Amino acid sequence: MVKAAFVDRDGTILDNMGYINHPERVRLLPGASRGLRLLREAGWKIVVITNQGGIERGYYTHDILHLINLRMLELLWKDGATIDALYYCPFVSESELKKPNVGMIERAVRELDIDLEGSFIVGDQLIDLELANRVGCPGVFVLTGFGLGFYEYMRDKVEALKPVYVARDLSDVAEWVINGEGSHHFSLKKGGVGQKL
Ligand SMILES: [Mg+2]
Repeated sequence: MVKAAFVDRDGTILDNMGYINHPERVRLLPGASRGLRLLREAGWKIVVITNQGGIERGYYTHDILHLINLRMLELLWKDGATIDALYYCPFVSESELKKPNVGMIERAVRELDIDLEGSFIVGDQLIDLELANRVGCPGVFVLTGFGLGFYEYMRDKVEALKPVYVARDLSDVAEWVINGEGSHHFSLKKGGVGQKL
């Protein structure tokens, strides 16, 4: 069995520009490649867990999503990084797969023989932390994507979901998870980024 880093896609690995509906719109966030590379080298399987309700909404198809994911892989490969698996939920309507429901994680655990002990979930939205709580895994919050806005303007909601760490980006996540320390020099205000909550 292996431990996994369950990583959100949009706003955590990729720049969040609304619904990504073309490979040309794929941009890696700063720190994403390095963070994934460090975590994978340190023994975590990288399992991307992403809601893609744009499919049910008719904004893009499964095939287009695959092209977009391939473009992400291509950009990661150029930086010496990769992922082990990707699960997506195509539904905007209620589904056991749709985050914060645990369906995608349960499938990943079963199919990839993942041990939740030592695994964690990282993302830029409250649903990612909610998912972590439902699964019983530590949740790490990143300030990329929607994260900064949530953290600056709705911090009580973030803190109520008890993230184990608030990170600047995926690179910071990897340093904290692997070394038990992050970029403590980087802080916005009280509580601060890079501080354990
Ligand atoms: Mg996200």
